[in-house]
Amino acid sequence: MLWLRHVTPSIVAAVRPDAVEALTNPVFNKALRWYYAVMRDERPAKFMIARSVQVDEDPARLDEDGLWSLHREAEKRFYSLLREVEREDLGYLEFRRRYGDAKPSFLDVKIEIAYWILKICRFCEFRCRVGRSGSRGLGVCRLGRVTYVHSWFHHMGEEAPLVPSGTIFYGGCNFRCVYCQNWDISQVEPFAGAPVDARQLAIIQRELRINGARNINHVGGEPTPNIHTILESFRYLDVNVPQLWNSNFYMSTEAMELLKHVIDIWLPDFKYGNDRCALRLSKVPRYFEVVTRNLRIAAENGDMIIRHLVLPNHIECCSKNVLRWIADNLPRERVLVNIMDQYRPEHLVVKNPERYRDMARRPSRRELEEVYSYADKLGLLWRDISR
Ligand code: SF4
Repeated sequence: MLWLRHVTPSIVAAVRPDAVEALTNPVFNKALRWYYAVMRDERPAKFMIARSVQVDEDPARLDEDGLWSLHREAEKRFYSLLREVEREDLGYLEFRRRYGDAKPSFLDVKIEIAYWILKICRFCEFRCRVGRSGSRGLGVCRLGRVTYVHSWFHHMGEEAPLVPSGTIFYGGCNFRCVYCQNWDISQVEPFAGAPVDARQLAIIQRELRINGARNINHVGGEPTPNIHTILESFRYLDVNVPQLWNSNFYMSTEAMELLKHVIDIWLPDFKYGNDRCALRLSKVPRYFEVVTRNLRIAAENGDMIIRHLVLPNHIECCSKNVLRWIADNLPRERVLVNIMDQYRPEHLVVKNPERYRDMARRPSRRELEEVYSYADKLGLLWRDISR
């Protein structure tokens, strides 16, 4: 993995010339129109817009039901302001000059709701309903209130339009993938990272942006259990930067409601084409229903690059089902698909190759070619974006 603390345009040109070319690629410019505009400061990021939407009641005085009702009202104003931004071609600076921060704001409502959810946690579809007030929790992800960051840097290995990507690796995950490449921070030692609060997280994002990041890439582990800290960090973030959600997409409907007005570009990991493989390899129930539901919501609320990691011996049951679902259900001209070939046996697959015999090798060239030609047959936008 190649990464840098500070990046300049000449470093990007030397290390990832395709990231420079991506800026003028017509397919990317069309599919990622909003993301590119925020990246260039030609639009305010969505979290900035949410911060400018006034609400009429003090969120701190409401219970969760009252907050959701206030959220529904503020949502209408948010979309109206978003339309105005587009209609009047408002760049970031002009937007901030006209609007500034509302007090209290739509973002404040979201933050307050997130802390209510944390008390009986429903950030993801495991819906553990555990209180997460301590530093460690009793839910599937084992996380409490504290957010742990294991590293943050300019990632030069992501998809070309994203590089350099200001990536923040959170500890902990709700999945138990038997082949996880980040098993140390996601499953074994999620607490070994640095505990950060919302202000510190905002400083990290600021540093990444002013030193060259095209976006802030929330990843892990999994960012979902940390939604409360991430949303609150937007209250303190004073630079314009696209927010990118790099996730297994197992968020609850409530979490999607909180995220969909503040995330500019989604980077879902759509691995499995059926529930049986998801349960066996990641210990996740109801996978297909939950992830496809969230993909539909995300496609209506931001730009998207879907990642699909080709798994050996899972071409018919997973790769083809995933690609077919995308082609049948999402707008093909707006959704980019990264078909990833870098699977390698890791973690429990290495420890117990007999049990996971199907997963104990890399995908073959024949399997990859079969997936590529299937994506072509479906008319998906994948060629420019896959590396
Ligand atoms: S984030 Fe998901 S796995 Fe973690 S406690 Fe909450 S509902 Fe459970």
